[in-house]
Amino acid sequence: MVDFEVIIIGAGAAGIMAANFLQSRDVSVCVLEARDRIGGRIHDIHTKQMGHLHLGASWLHHKGNKHILKALLDQYHVAYLKEDALESSDKMEIYSEHGKLSGKEKKLFTEVLIRLPKNIRKIGQQQPTLSIAEAVRLIGEKHGYSQSLIQALITRSSEHCSQNADVMPAREFDGWEPNGLFVKDGFGKLIRKLSRHLNIEQNTIVQRIDQTDEIIVIETNQKPFTCRYVISTLPTGVLQSEQVTFVPPLPTNKKVALEQLDSGNHEKIFLKFPHVFWDKDTEIFQLAAPNNRGACTQWHNVLLNTEAQNILYTNISGPDISYARKSDLALQDLCMSRLRQMFGDQIPDPISIYVTRWSLDQFTLGGPYAHPTMKGKMGDLSTIGEPFGHIHFAGVDTSESETETVEAALLSGIRTANQILSKR
Ligand SMILES: Cc1cc2nc3c(=O)[nH]c(=O)nc-3n(C[C@H](O)[C@H](O)[C@H](O)COP(=O)(O)OP(=O)(O)OC[C@H]3O[C@@H](n4cnc5c(N)ncnc54)[C@H](O)[C@@H]3O)c2cc1C
Repeated sequence: MVDFEVIIIGAGAAGIMAANFLQSRDVSVCVLEARDRIGGRIHDIHTKQMGHLHLGASWLHHKGNKHILKALLDQYHVAYLKEDALESSDKMEIYSEHGKLSGKEKKLFTEVLIRLPKNIRKIGQQQPTLSIAEAVRLIGEKHGYSQSLIQALITRSSEHCSQNADVMPAREFDGWEPNGLFVKDGFGKLIRKLSRHLNIEQNTIVQRIDQTDEIIVIETNQKPFTCRYVISTLPTGVLQSEQVTFVPPLPTNKKVALEQLDSGNHEKIFLKFPHVFWDKDTEIFQLAAPNNRGACTQWHNVLLNTEAQNILYTNISGPDISYARKSDLALQDLCMSRLRQMFGDQIPDPISIYVTRWSLDQFTLGGPYAHPTMKGKMGDLSTIGEPFGHIHFAGVDTSESETETVEAALLSGIRTANQILSKR
């Protein structure tokens, strides 16, 4: 006898989707979740000072060829804005050390930006040893761009999402297209609805998965659980940290694939101001800074909710992810010096700040998604996703064809659930 036929590790998008799929097909399932909440990298909070904040995923992206997310949002009445926030260059302003780019300069910058994915891939194929940053530098130099504008191009090429362009090979770049519909209600609403009738054990940290015998034993900080199949949705950073022991150990190809991945880089810093001093119709303010391009250079003006219109948020990303170790106060000072470069010395100090620290959180240890380093390839993601005995691997980083997004995580949950259904 086993406690459950399938145990799923992690109650993020992948785990919740897998559990929902299996339970609706009469499989006995339990989800073990380390945190005292569900959602993983989907985490919407409500603070007295700032109202609703999406600490993790916010946008509905259309990457890859399989699409289920929009239909799910519609089915569960999760509202999203119908207008693509990133599609139009009119929604972005770029500031160099000489001030705001003129209309003509911005138009050219945006045209270069739109062609970047194609050109990065082209350079990557011709020169496979180049990183994305090196490829973008070549493109920027061709246009006679200054060092700071090149840094801004690198940020916008890939690093505003999760990648570190210094270590990601141009040859593996699978393209970022400007798209994104802001999910106004927050993805958390979808996760709550999908998890409504599921058996989820929170505060249950998986420490060891032993599949020596036919019955799999999972040791946790609470009590052991037994099952016939496991779906692990442990994030890449958590797998890399080896805080969960696999018995027998993970095969060499998986270990090598893990070593060749960067677990991602992206923190959000929200600042609330006493009043709005920026143009309300501009979506993104990008500062072209010659150094530390990942430290609070891109700023978003998102209408998070109706009560919280005077909030801007920025990112720590790419090679500057270590800034997440700085105190809130130090980050606030940095933010204000960046903003004053763009908007002048007269702007007010913020009345409130919120900083995410996904990269330091024991149950994420990374960013939105992982990507190959110079030694690696996109295929490493599929290697992570291969089953190992009766342990299946879901999560955003387990397929080279569905990558990067909440949708990729949901699809991976369905993929692994189907793998198990076909074995029974
Ligand atoms: C700042 C940020 C912004 C993002 N923006 C977007 C966006 O706009 N659009 C988009 O599509 N995607 C976005 N993403 C990416 C998206 O949120 C994630 O890729 C997706 O939610 C990952 O889902 P997952 O189930 O694979 O992993 P996770 O959500 O990380 O779930 C894994 C679960 O495993 C649990 N866990 C970890 N260790 C253990 C353990 N030892 N025992 C038990 N449980 C454990 C974790 O607590 C977690 O709940 C963003 C992510 C971040 C961080």
